[in-house]
Amino acid sequence: MSLTYEPDAGLAPLEFTITRNLAAKSAAEREQLLVDPAFGTTFTDHMIDICWSVRGGWHRPRVQPYGPLSLDPAAAVLHYGQEIFEGIKAYRHADGSVWTFRPDQNGRRLQRSARRLALPELPVEYFIESLKALIAVDGAWVPSGADQSLYLRPFMFAKEAFLGVRPANKVGYYVIASPVGAYFKGGAKPVSIWLSEDYARAGKGGTGAAKTGGNYAASLLPQAEAYEQGCDQVVFLDQDRNVEELGGMNVVFVYKDGTIVTPQSDSILEGITRDSILQLAADRGHKIEGRAVSIDEWRSGVASGEIVEVFACGTAAVVAPIGVLKGRDFVDEQPLGPLAQSLRDELTDIQYGRREDTHGWLVRLDEPAGDAGSAA
Ligand SMILES: *Cc1c(COP(=O)(O)O)cnc(C)c1O
Repeated sequence: MSLTYEPDAGLAPLEFTITRNLAAKSAAEREQLLVDPAFGTTFTDHMIDICWSVRGGWHRPRVQPYGPLSLDPAAAVLHYGQEIFEGIKAYRHADGSVWTFRPDQNGRRLQRSARRLALPELPVEYFIESLKALIAVDGAWVPSGADQSLYLRPFMFAKEAFLGVRPANKVGYYVIASPVGAYFKGGAKPVSIWLSEDYARAGKGGTGAAKTGGNYAASLLPQAEAYEQGCDQVVFLDQDRNVEELGGMNVVFVYKDGTIVTPQSDSILEGITRDSILQLAADRGHKIEGRAVSIDEWRSGVASGEIVEVFACGTAAVVAPIGVLKGRDFVDEQPLGPLAQSLRDELTDIQYGRREDTHGWLVRLDEPAGDAGSAA
């Protein structure tokens, strides 16, 4: 499940050129913004920008003021959607240090997404270095309140200006950061889910397993349909009526005998939250199964009492119990149980340094005090 990253021998270190934001927020302004940040609306003072070209490879790594990008109107991403992204958080521990969670996994996933979208693969070491470089200048933006974190958004897109259909020869990789509070105010309250039967988010052999904007674009209309139906989120099925995911969160089923089942298919995005939660559950002795779960198995399992808990998970919201599944001609109340909350608590205790990290999942992003880094 968890693989340790072996650095590429001979990989040149990234030397970031740092341009300070002269209009950076004052400490007082920043503290004000960190009181109660709404998800994804406030951004830090700086961003990472690394170029890639066929001829030059990865080059010109920069830390620069956060601000608009200048893009040719013919940039390939605007026409053909050659784009991928990641989502990962930085957590402030009680001693003030800043950590992130399994960044090697996000780095590897960015590489898998890149392969599928015919984009260049950023070395995992560069991925982790880019997060550290941003924290070196914007570390003060990592909030310290309960359930708060700094959401990091690495992304990559085709910026070459041309209207031909082929992989772009010029690409940009960026990281921006946004302080966030608890995704669900007042704890993880159960969410209601709309079963999308008219729309799919991905297909066999498509881009469902890649973290790419196009999958999200395909999910917006069904998500709007979910809102119209009074639901919080939408769940997608594949062509064989097997459960896929919510389009931004993976789904997990808990069975009466303690077995935990999660849908497995080539068109589901492999969540790192899901992988971590299943590892914690396995540590507790739960049997874990990754396999196809049909919508009929879900509905009849809930009706018979065979399924005792259903929850969704992902970096942004961590864990969300599913309270209702609504379809065209049914509304199924979902059983609520203790596992979603207790696994969520165990995971966040590790992330915030309140519990021992026995799996070696945490990576420190800031420079320990007294060991001033070269990036400052
Ligand atoms: C990011 C994402 C998830 C959750 O992945 P995590 O690594 O747990 O954050 C699930 N589904 C989709 C489509 C995603 O983009």
